[in-house]
Amino acid sequence: MALIVQKFGGTSVGDVARIKNVAERVVATRRAGHDVVVCVSAMSGETNALVALSDAINEGGPASPREYDVLVSTGEQKTIALLAMAIEGLGESARSFTGGQMGMRTDSAHTRARIERIETEALRGALDAGEICVIAGFQGVDPDGHITTLGRGGSDTSAVAMACALGAEVCEIYTDVDGVYTADPRLVPFAQRLDRIAFEEMLELASVGAKVLQIRSVKFAMRYGLPLHVRSSFVEDEGTWVVPEEDVMERLVVSGVTCTNNEAKIHVRNVPDQPGIAARLFTPLSDAGIVVDMIIQNLSRDGSTDVTFTVPRTDYSRALELAHQASREMGCDDVGGDEDIAKVSVVGLGMKDHAGVATRMFAVLAHEGINIQMISTSEIKVSVAIEEKYAELAVRTLHAAFIEGDAAQD
Ligand code: ADP
Ligand code: ASP
Ligand code: MG
Repeated sequence: MALIVQKFGGTSVGDVARIKNVAERVVATRRAGHDVVVCVSAMSGETNALVALSDAINEGGPASPREYDVLVSTGEQKTIALLAMAIEGLGESARSFTGGQMGMRTDSAHTRARIERIETEALRGALDAGEICVIAGFQGVDPDGHITTLGRGGSDTSAVAMACALGAEVCEIYTDVDGVYTADPRLVPFAQRLDRIAFEEMLELASVGAKVLQIRSVKFAMRYGLPLHVRSSFVEDEGTWVVPEEDVMERLVVSGVTCTNNEAKIHVRNVPDQPGIAARLFTPLSDAGIVVDMIIQNLSRDGSTDVTFTVPRTDYSRALELAHQASREMGCDDVGGDEDIAKVSVVGLGMKDHAGVATRMFAVLAHEGINIQMISTSEIKVSVAIEEKYAELAVRTLHAAFIEGDAAQD
């Protein structure tokens, strides 16, 4: 008998029939002799609808973060009750748990809270009593008991973190695709499903736009060595196993091509080229919780230099304001930006022992007439910032070159 954590995303619980389908899968696992904890998202469209309500009441202005979390966490609360009812309808006992009830303790960073610890007593008690635990994804409680949420897509992280805390054998991520693909299958018709992928690669893919897993869920799984199995809610077949690197037979040079379409670029010109300038520019941004991604600083000319960086588009106006403020304090105010930037990336463990992936990527983009504005690399990833309107074209051509064209994988 094993302990299995299963997570079902929004589409998988999108209507009553689908919730009943989930109940059947959960009950089948239980009847195969396993203990089951099942983590669910809000029904598809529900979280977006709640966010739209918040926007409407606040007339586009910022919402109170505390009340935003109280509101958006209700989506999952609905699903846990409905699924627990459906499971009981099939003759197994089940109990639903909200974030507070399951001991999901987070910090107080509303809307993007981080898990601090998980008190597992309540779930263990229910499992010992033979119950199936149905837990709400995406939500937790802070030290003062306020409801918090973990950021969009956060149910993956709830499920994986709980699986780690309980010492589960596996965390199964059921979703609307049957595994992790070499590119978003909705964007690239020739995307191929991977049987196995290493934690490191999945982490990079998730961080550069493969939304099939929230990045923090992969971090938890990697830290605890917990295998993840990403698979379809609608078919029985095996999907993709996310496992330690040594368990992946084939080390592809490029195992995935991704893009994020929600970037913005800011440039600050003529800043004095002196020690401490980068800290003065970027400290206010990090204090405001704005995550800066790519950064380029040009060679100094006449004692001054230019800095260009990217931020999430949602943070663009605030970041621009802070950049203006910082550069005014430095005696210059030559700041501008562009909101229509996409980041396109290729990821693969095989890059560790294959040179030339970056240059091949640049050549492929050049051939399509796509101008590269910024570049960043890691050991197993190359990312470029480009004009957003070319993002899909870039992903498709890079996928064709690196994955459909097998020369690159030798
Ligand atoms: P859920 O609601 O189940 O959490 P998500 O919508 O968050 O599902 O994630 C699944 C979606 O991720 C798929 O429908 C697919 O369009 C998208 N996706 C993006 N990149 C990839 C990839 N490399 N492999 C598989 N799916 C991907
Ligand atoms: N319901 C939340 C969202 O839509 C969390 C999740 O589905 O993972 O972002
Ligand atoms: Mg998701």
